[in-house]
Amino acid sequence: MKLIYLSPSDQTDNRYAYGNTTEAAQCRKIADACEAALKRNGFSVINNQKSNVYDRVRESNEKKADLHVCIHTNAFNGTVSGTRMFTFDLKGEGYKAANTIFNVLAPLTPGKSENIKTADFYEIMYTNAPCVYIECEFHDVAAVAKWIIEHTKEIGEAIAQGICKYYGVTFNEGKTESQNSLVKTYKVVAGDTLWEIAQNHGTTVDTLARLNNIKDPNKISVGQIIKLPTATTAPTTNDDKEKVLEEDGLWGRDTTKYTQKLFGTPVDGIVSNQLNSCKEYLPNMLAVSWEFMNIAKGGSPMVNKLQTLVGANPDGYAGIDTIMKLQVFLQNLGLYSGKIDGIAGNQTVRGWQMYLNLKL
Ligand SMILES: [Zn+2]
Repeated sequence: MKLIYLSPSDQTDNRYAYGNTTEAAQCRKIADACEAALKRNGFSVINNQKSNVYDRVRESNEKKADLHVCIHTNAFNGTVSGTRMFTFDLKGEGYKAANTIFNVLAPLTPGKSENIKTADFYEIMYTNAPCVYIECEFHDVAAVAKWIIEHTKEIGEAIAQGICKYYGVTFNEGKTESQNSLVKTYKVVAGDTLWEIAQNHGTTVDTLARLNNIKDPNKISVGQIIKLPTATTAPTTNDDKEKVLEEDGLWGRDTTKYTQKLFGTPVDGIVSNQLNSCKEYLPNMLAVSWEFMNIAKGGSPMVNKLQTLVGANPDGYAGIDTIMKLQVFLQNLGLYSGKIDGIAGNQTVRGWQMYLNLKL
């Protein structure tokens, strides 16, 4: 059982621009929600809301935590907002964990989020476990402070969901089955109209427009997720279209399975025999699905096919050249607009996931 160490801010002097509250008070609520969600998903949790950072680091190390997570809210000049996250470096396990959390949390927070950066904060430097330092949002902007106060549960859940994702654990939202069936969505594919989607799901254009805040029903885009109404569960004809791969920029088992399906190689969700020396080019490839080792035993048949597709040397080992070719391949299809740097980060993996969804 993995032990997650939660270290919420103890900064009782950092006052919020709204609601007569403090960073410590709100971060403790976030940590409590996160703890509940983690325990529900089978993790052990230490949620230390008392000691100073030195004692917390000592405890985290003594108890051999698997992941150390600092929960804060930020302040700057009263005008910026968004999620900020910090790790020891931009390639280790801390970064990977941060990335999975970022991908769930950043879309939730109202401000403009920025990429993960390195920092030399005490907890980042001295914890033995990989450390993720989260600044959930900015509490010196009144509207944002209000949002934090009203969403501590959602923020805590999002952090837990990211942690689950990092460990390859399917997130249990803690809802009853009947509630689960309420959250149905549909992903727009080329040629869809809102009218057709409404027809196929026994609802109306108006209902969908209202539910999804769509101002112009004639303007929906490929890949857009449409929430479907809860009450009507009319038989649908497009069920198979709904089973799409999540475009989260992280290459875990699902992405591998979809890729294996695409290439007709055995579908086991594992990318076999990749090289440790290439790991730095594959920061978003998750350990649950990618098998890294020092010995070259022929590589992966799936990678081999991928290399053939994108015009790289088909040797079965993903590395900088394969990723560069993949980036060019995706760029030509309009699925990637980042740098051709040979590093499979978020955008690259997301582009590939989009490609899989278009193909399968
Ligand atoms: Zn803080």
